[in-house]
Amino acid sequence: MANELRFDGKVVIITGAGNGLGRSHALLFGSRGAKVVVNDLGGGHTGEGKSSAAADKVVEEIKALGGEAVANYDSVEDGAKIVQTALDHFKRVDIVVNNAGILRDVSFPKMTQDDWDLIYRVHVLGAFRVTHAAWPYLRDQGYGRVIMTASAAGIYGNFGQANYSMAKLGVAGFASTLAIEGKKKNVNVNTIAPIAGSRMTETILPPELIASLKPEYVTPLVAWLCHENCEETGGLFEVGGGFFGKLRWERTKGQTFRMGRAITPETVKSSWGKITSFEETEHPANVMQSMAPILANVQAGPSLG
Ligand code: NAD
Repeated sequence: MANELRFDGKVVIITGAGNGLGRSHALLFGSRGAKVVVNDLGGGHTGEGKSSAAADKVVEEIKALGGEAVANYDSVEDGAKIVQTALDHFKRVDIVVNNAGILRDVSFPKMTQDDWDLIYRVHVLGAFRVTHAAWPYLRDQGYGRVIMTASAAGIYGNFGQANYSMAKLGVAGFASTLAIEGKKKNVNVNTIAPIAGSRMTETILPPELIASLKPEYVTPLVAWLCHENCEETGGLFEVGGGFFGKLRWERTKGQTFRMGRAITPETVKSSWGKITSFEETEHPANVMQSMAPILANVQAGPSLG
């Protein structure tokens, strides 16, 4: 195909690429000319154990299709080692897909600090360590693409996933700032909240849904966001089962009280309808836009009446 989106000469690190979504991403990048670092710790889906088998299998699959790939078995908590694998084997790094993940689902009263810390370490600290080690290379070469993998559970909340929700919205916030810091150097950072049948979801979703929610329906978005022709940055996307959509913040127009008069809990109560009504809305896209009504009110000064 003449206008096929290709990644020739690009080096992509995909964490947790031994299974599910990461494997699907790795196979697609590998089939389109990228050199792929297939990272996977090879443990169970709740974070126990490790093995080289998962990453090795995907490397073999990529090579069998004529692609180039190397395995890495470190935990994302050792992110610098994963980036070093890219540099040792392929001499550069262009794209980082932060995908590795585990679950420790349990209702909040039963959640231990170990459940909380482990989920933080794999999803948030892991994404930090890998991205932080790759960042100077992306910035200095004036091209880089980073993907964070969030979840609807982080955006909307989900029973039994307090730790996972914290981590998943955490990486989305992390990406928002990285997108701002990377913009001038053509380092684009976007976040996906996918849904796909995998070993992670097979115990939660019915089998027929698992079969139709193929990871391959998510990967095309990751590939496009990582392509050099794609200028999107700072975006958050929900994707899966053939659906692709972008999210943004929406805020009620709200209620502003002129300063200089007492603002009491009763004042807030009496305006609750206006404060919470989405009949009129705004879509602040950055901190300045977020602060606009606050600054306008401060500049208007105290009420004279
Ligand atoms: P999966 O279990 O099939 O794959 C995750 C992979 O990450 C596994 O191969 C695992 O060995 C690896 N991994 C775990 N901890 C690691 C570590 N410390 N270092 C390196 N590798 C590690 O799950 P999946 O469904 O493909 O999930 C991929 C990502 O997508 C995860 O971040 C997950 O939270 C996210 N996600 C998935 C869904 C879904 O519907 N499947 C929904 C929302 C978010």
